[in-house]
Amino acid sequence: MALYILDEKSDGLRPLGSAQKWFLYHALKSLDESLGKIGGCLHLRSGKSREIIREIINNENIGAVHWNRRCGKAELEIDAGLKAELQSVGVVVNSFQGNLLHEPYTTKTGSGGPYRVYSPFWRSLIASGEPRAPFPAPEEIISYNPRNAALPLDALQLLPTSPDWAKGWSRIWNPSEKGAAERFDDFVANGIHGYKEGRDFPDRDNISRLSPFLRFGLISPYQVWHGIRHHEAADTVSNTDSEKFLKELAWREFSYHLLFHFPDIGWKNFQERFDEFPWRADGHEHLEAWQRGMTGYPIIDAGMRELWQTGYMHNRVRMVVGSFLVKHLLIDWRQGEKWFWDTLVDGDPANNPASWQWIAGCGADAAPYFRVFNPMLQGNKFDSDGEYVRKYVPELSKLPNQFIHAPFDVQPEILKQYGVTLGKTYPHPIVDHTRGRDRALEAFKELKKAD
Ligand code: FAD
Repeated sequence: MALYILDEKSDGLRPLGSAQKWFLYHALKSLDESLGKIGGCLHLRSGKSREIIREIINNENIGAVHWNRRCGKAELEIDAGLKAELQSVGVVVNSFQGNLLHEPYTTKTGSGGPYRVYSPFWRSLIASGEPRAPFPAPEEIISYNPRNAALPLDALQLLPTSPDWAKGWSRIWNPSEKGAAERFDDFVANGIHGYKEGRDFPDRDNISRLSPFLRFGLISPYQVWHGIRHHEAADTVSNTDSEKFLKELAWREFSYHLLFHFPDIGWKNFQERFDEFPWRADGHEHLEAWQRGMTGYPIIDAGMRELWQTGYMHNRVRMVVGSFLVKHLLIDWRQGEKWFWDTLVDGDPANNPASWQWIAGCGADAAPYFRVFNPMLQGNKFDSDGEYVRKYVPELSKLPNQFIHAPFDVQPEILKQYGVTLGKTYPHPIVDHTRGRDRALEAFKELKKAD
């Protein structure tokens, strides 16, 4: 029998974000359909996983339990406890690695410790050889399904109700193995050509958007890795683009390596000196303006609205909005991480906190704190014709390119000609760029003095 337990009750587990739940709902539905085609079905339950498995073991005649290994601290503890309990009553337990190319503990520095810097981690990953090939899907499952205690999918309450903010998402996402395979095929046929350079431009189609599919296991990193290798060997993608892409996939491995070795990464500064950082306690209104895409900085607002409208945000823009929150607004990175966790379909227990800590300057191999992204320069460089901003901030769509990333620098009479009145049709900037940057650098200097 194939069993999925939605466990939001066991100690230490973080409930899934709302957008992830939407994705999960459709992923479970499609898994059940796929299992149905080969003789099985998905048995759904909700509650503490250890208690539910204990109950099933007591009531059914089960000789072996199989699962994929997990990396988080609470998950590891639950799985270890369960394994011991099952083995003590004579049930065979088999666990597998299905989510990562290599076990997070096998990649080690020369002195046997964990990596804290990405480049040597990557070199070590490559030196350890090619990851295993993906396994083929089973052609048949011999299963019996004790349907009586199972829950219908809707009982898991994964979908938003009032309001249904995910209306229309099914046109953007197809959360199924088929959807993942189609996305991968489309990417290697089109988007990957020019990936190395194009991946930084939010209105170009040079990214795979595979992250939520990887997050929920609808495609495995082995399939992605070997799929890319296959195209490399056939000369249908350039080595430059494929290497860059695999290096990005390896950032995901690096995040999980960090999560495994530093399990508190989701809430504790990787660099302890940041524990004293003077994050603003009075930033609530600014946090809300950031969340709603109403900061008065077009590239920031476009990113935050893309996130709200689609459950996804382009990586370049994630960096710019993240930097703006922790630097210009001096708001604790954990607030940003929390919002992303709730709103991203790819909200990931390793990638999300590791990336936020990287942006805030307190993480492993982090961007230095004094690197403050300038939203206007980022906009002009990576969205030079303003297409990304026009798509998500339609109230600015009539502005010509030279004004679109800094409407606040334009005379009000001129703005009016394009239908824009700051403070009325679009907000004034919630913080002055130079003041915000200087305040952040000042706070950082104080931290250094305290070292
Ligand atoms: P592609 O460019 O097509 O890359 C392919 C795969 O490589 C991705 O699907 C992803 O698994 C991995 N990858 C790519 N870039 C990164 C990266 N910088 N770090 C780690 N892995 C990477 N990624 C998540 O999967 N979940 C998150 O919750 C998440 N939160 C983030 C928060 C912030 C503040 C930032 C700056 C980045 C975050 N990222 C997160 C990393 C990155 O933005 C996404 O993985 C990427 O945008 C996904 O789009 P894609 O699949 O088209 O990526």
